[in-house]
Amino acid sequence: MTKKKSMSEHPNDTDSGIKNDSPVALPLWDVFRGGLVVSMPAAIALGLITALDAVEPWHAAGAWTVSLIIAMGIVRRHYSLLDAIKRNIQRRAGSSAPERASKAGDVLSNIAEGIGETAELAAALTRLFRATADRRTQLQALNERHVSIIDNIPDPLIFLNVKGRVQSMNKAARDRFGGRIMGRELSHVARDPALLEAGNAVLAQGGHRTVEISISDPVHWVFNVRIEALPNEQDEQRSALVIFRDLTEIRRIESMRVDFVANVSHELRTPLATLHGFIETLRGPARDDLDAHERFLEIMEQQTSRMTRLVTDLLSLSRIETAEHTAPNEEVALRPLAEHLTAAAELTAARRGIRIALDINPDLPALIANSDEISQVLQNLLENAIKYGRDKSVVTIRADVASDLPASLSLQADHVATISVSDQGDGIPREHIPRLTERFYRVDTARSREMGGTGLGLAIVKHIVSRHRGALTIDSKVGEGSTFTVYIPCRAPAVTKSQTFAAG
Ligand code: ADP
Repeated sequence: MTKKKSMSEHPNDTDSGIKNDSPVALPLWDVFRGGLVVSMPAAIALGLITALDAVEPWHAAGAWTVSLIIAMGIVRRHYSLLDAIKRNIQRRAGSSAPERASKAGDVLSNIAEGIGETAELAAALTRLFRATADRRTQLQALNERHVSIIDNIPDPLIFLNVKGRVQSMNKAARDRFGGRIMGRELSHVARDPALLEAGNAVLAQGGHRTVEISISDPVHWVFNVRIEALPNEQDEQRSALVIFRDLTEIRRIESMRVDFVANVSHELRTPLATLHGFIETLRGPARDDLDAHERFLEIMEQQTSRMTRLVTDLLSLSRIETAEHTAPNEEVALRPLAEHLTAAAELTAARRGIRIALDINPDLPALIANSDEISQVLQNLLENAIKYGRDKSVVTIRADVASDLPASLSLQADHVATISVSDQGDGIPREHIPRLTERFYRVDTARSREMGGTGLGLAIVKHIVSRHRGALTIDSKVGEGSTFTVYIPCRAPAVTKSQTFAAG
């Protein structure tokens, strides 16, 4: 028997594989015996005819000899063929079954007994079918695993065929570009000349290209796209893998940083310029004007306190941002904090005839919070309510256990307290509300500055609330007033009945 080889070692194997197997050489004696068996019916028939004197015995002998030679030829040819088929099937099925066929004598015996080669062939075929089915199952499992790995890659991946059309894509690509791009050219993914040029170049010349593209549909996206050629083994043509890396967030943060630096510089430049101007005036024309000294020094003091407030707010913001990923876990009683802040703000409020009312559920459980930060939230909201409230109006601080949360909020806590600050001011036009918590965003910049605002108060509130895994909502009606509500996790409530206490 020839030594067995694996499929991969037979690059020229045909499907039958018969060509590559050299048949087992059958000994002449065995071929003769096989021929005898096959020509036996002819011998019997000739014997009977001879017994009936229908032919001469030597004619019959001659005819039988011819039939024996033909039978030997047929036996030899069919055995070789069957043997080659069987060995091929066994090899493809990975069978190490004993090769009975390797013994030509045995095979002939089997033919003689009416069993053997055909039965072995059937068994080998069964093994082949089983092995093929097993391999198909393994391949399917492997394919499913690869598809699931590729689908779980968060970056969109697109596979382009040799014609530059989308042949397959992962889940991220389907979510981002939609299934409609299937079978389409790269121009249907993004109409960016640089991308199309890079795609064509890679398909034509191989290698890889990287381009940065922007898509607006209608949301703005920025992608770094790498196109990598995948060589085709059969011919010269190439397919390509297109990998999209989302840079939108990185670019947004970069532009925020640039805007932030520009804003801080701008906020500091005005008071610094004012100070500079007054120092020059005091040294020059107003050197001996004592009245002017008094007025100018007061303005200079206002400008320095404005810069101090700005720097203090910037530092608070940076401190909160640094700690934002760890949620606070102290127990904080809200009432004493609110009473303390109300007392501190009363003088300023009273100057404009504003009254501060406290409506805090006496059974409100402790907040799970950081006391200083909750103080800062209340202080910023209270200061704004007084600043933007009308003269002789009421500012109300309410706190209770949240009975239901707005659908838009995704709070994980079991129990939540709501703390709201309402004023009776001019209200905020609807289009400004989503942007109020951005740093330095103001509805009326001049008015905010005039009132000593830094434009950072609500940004600080937003970051503190988000550190507490809470939420902030803003309701406002132009001409009626605004309510800022924060949702903060709290302990389980004993009673949730609300009572009203007015202060001031
Ligand atoms: P500022 O220091 O300017 O008050 P904030 O971040 O606290 O900065 O507020 C941002 C802007 O939101 C303010 O400039 C103002 O236009 C608006 N705003 C905040 N609170 C109120 C309020 N209670 N009523 C009306 N407008 C408000």
